[in-house]
Amino acid sequence: MNILILGSGGREHALAWATLQNPKCDKLIVAPGNGGIAQIADCADLDPEDGAAVVEFAAEEAIDFVIIGPEAPLAAGVSDALRAAGILCFGPSQAATELEASKSFTKEICDAAHAPTAAYARFTEAEPARDYIRAQGAPIVVKADGLAAGKGVIVAMDEATALAAIDDMFGGAFGGAGAEVVIEDFLEGEEASFFVLCDGETVLPIGTAQDHKRAFDGDTGPNTGGMGAYSPAPVMTDTVVARTMAEIIEPTMAEMARRGTPFSGVLFAGLMIKDGAPRLIEYNVRFGDPECQCLMLRLGAQALDLMLACAEGRLDGMAVNWADDHAMCVVMAADGYPGSYAKGGVINGLDEMPETSHEMCFHAGTKRADGQYLANGGRVLGLTARGESLAEAQARAYALVDRVDWPGGFNRSDIGWRALAE
Ligand code: AMP
Repeated sequence: MNILILGSGGREHALAWATLQNPKCDKLIVAPGNGGIAQIADCADLDPEDGAAVVEFAAEEAIDFVIIGPEAPLAAGVSDALRAAGILCFGPSQAATELEASKSFTKEICDAAHAPTAAYARFTEAEPARDYIRAQGAPIVVKADGLAAGKGVIVAMDEATALAAIDDMFGGAFGGAGAEVVIEDFLEGEEASFFVLCDGETVLPIGTAQDHKRAFDGDTGPNTGGMGAYSPAPVMTDTVVARTMAEIIEPTMAEMARRGTPFSGVLFAGLMIKDGAPRLIEYNVRFGDPECQCLMLRLGAQALDLMLACAEGRLDGMAVNWADDHAMCVVMAADGYPGSYAKGGVINGLDEMPETSHEMCFHAGTKRADGQYLANGGRVLGLTARGESLAEAQARAYALVDRVDWPGGFNRSDIGWRALAE
């Protein structure tokens, strides 16, 4: 079959790589793709958020199946446009994307589904929000309601920081995303990412992971899109997974279906686990980046079968075959990221990277020019490896990092520290 993947990050390189492992894939196009993806698939210069353009392109190229990587095309309704045109598509409807696009919507769903999450209040004006913060005290968490590229959450350890966040949000620092603000209790515990596929009815867990949001070692520095991840997450024991499914995921999916907006695609739950009890921090309606790199390396060719079954409503009876192993992804980013950074630096060593089901260099922000790879983004590479233990996966991933010759980049040297310390 002919497959189109929308997106340009490390997540999409991993999705493309896994898709190509499956003999069902005859032709793969990625739009817009990146320098690394261009080595394994055709890249098309197409705006992934323009539904009409995507439908037209898919028809011209006789595409049978579209996999949508990032949230922006979903929020723009591209999956609806494809389905309306009769094209099979992996990714939730615009209506179901509200689970990621609106934090207050998710809170409403959690209330209706009795899913455990932080207590909260929502505000459209600054003064009552400030009063609420003063009454509740710190620590407290202030969130812009809409999509803010992972930057709309302020975990305030003191009242002054929380009040400043209110000024920023209502002052327009997050544009339309900050017009409504959710203020919620600070949750203690250990964070984990939980991934399920849902076809509107059947829910199938497909993996757990933990990521590292902060820029620097020891979980210090500013929040980023993610500096590394590993899978599975040891905190997600069978019992915690069973509770998460029964208390959070299944009731959420039932509530979405009850409202006439069933969820079809991958649901990524950000959880806080304390004393074996899971609570929901947030939902995303797509794979995490860099968690996806770990999951795809572990799933391999079956990833395409699972996404197809999901899109076709055939998840009932499907199973995931896990190798009993571990994967780790270490992100290399441009100096200065997540602040301002330079583009265009030459990266050497990438042509000699191993490309196996156990070791992959996924490109996030590179481009190819004059036979060389150039840095072309904030997060640039995701060195990903599998091992029988997490320690072995870590050693292999960092051995890949050592093969990259890029003076303008940096990486954390402690991905996996928490799990390895336990
Ligand atoms: P989000 O964008 O909602 O994933 O939030 C970003 C990060 O903020 C999360 O990964 C958590 O580390 C943290 N966070 C969000 N909400 C809470 C909360 N209620 N309590 C503690 N930490 C939180």
